[in-house]
Amino acid sequence: MILILPENHNPDIIKTEPRLQSAGYRTCMFKTSRGSVCTILNADASGVERLRSLDLNASPAPQDVPYVLASRNIKDTGTEIDVGHDVTIGGSALCVIAGPCSIESESQIMEAAETVKISGASILRGGAFKPRSSPYAFQGMGIDGLRLLRKAGERYRIPIITEVLDQDDIQVVEEYSDIIQIGARNCQNFSLLKKVGRTRKPVLLKRGMMVTIEEFLLSAEYLLSEGNLNVILCERGIRTFETETRNTLDISAVPVLKQRTHLPVIVDPSHAAGTWKLIHPLSLAAVAAGADGLMVEMHPHPENALCDGKQSLRPDRFIALMESIAPMANLVGRSLQGRYYTATSVTAGPVST
Ligand code: PEP
Ligand code: MN
Repeated sequence: MILILPENHNPDIIKTEPRLQSAGYRTCMFKTSRGSVCTILNADASGVERLRSLDLNASPAPQDVPYVLASRNIKDTGTEIDVGHDVTIGGSALCVIAGPCSIESESQIMEAAETVKISGASILRGGAFKPRSSPYAFQGMGIDGLRLLRKAGERYRIPIITEVLDQDDIQVVEEYSDIIQIGARNCQNFSLLKKVGRTRKPVLLKRGMMVTIEEFLLSAEYLLSEGNLNVILCERGIRTFETETRNTLDISAVPVLKQRTHLPVIVDPSHAAGTWKLIHPLSLAAVAAGADGLMVEMHPHPENALCDGKQSLRPDRFIALMESIAPMANLVGRSLQGRYYTATSVTAGPVST
């Protein structure tokens, strides 16, 4: 049961009241325009009664949709998530995440990071633990890859994101990465979601390829209900009968999600398309449809990539994409978050904004 507390309640009572703490309640404070939200899990009738006896003036949260905390019923302003290095996702400025499918070497991830920085993108991506369809395909560099990704993020002063595949790796991914990615294949791995929901790093949740919008929001609800309120949703294409593309980008999911949830929504055109040739039009469509950002695969040498080279943009093509996103963002009343740098000044700071 989820209860909403009025704006003027004393938040300390939730943390300090032993009758609440000992009853197996889990609480999370959620600043909303209608009051703070208190999440109460496993509260049986007597538990709810006990809460009533504290005279907190709590009222039940609207239950007209099952994803209570993700819903706009509970928070009607968009959530803006701070991911570090002055980068946010979900505000009026679009945020672009780019980088290779997998981290392969120090020189590869450094080159990718430099392209991210000079292009006006904001976040560096790179997989260290890869969910490959074949057990014989490159599985990622693991912790060595995480170290290289972090080194690149620190050198270029940009936040980094990487996927966690296994519950055993949550701690190390949380330690190294600014954002924890949950991939499409784990979108409904509920025990992983619960554990990642207990971390304090922002989480990017990708839509599963066979997952409806409501199921997607319920997966986000698993993260929120464990107390992690910094959840970013990513539409990355779903399975349909169509074979011309790797997946079908569900562009309608963007406005539908924006109407249903206060969480930021971004689009990954790369895994939807399966070919770099479609990244440009799909990116423009995503921005036009109201996405808060993009996640694009970009590799310094896609022809040599160990994973997803076919759908990875070359750095020059990625820079051209960034140049055409900016006017599209302006057309829909948004700006582009990243600042422009020249290749020689990347470590020295911005040359123009
Ligand atoms: C990825 O982003 O590297 C990835 C594996 O994507 P998805 O989970 O969407 O397939
Ligand atoms: Mn990939």
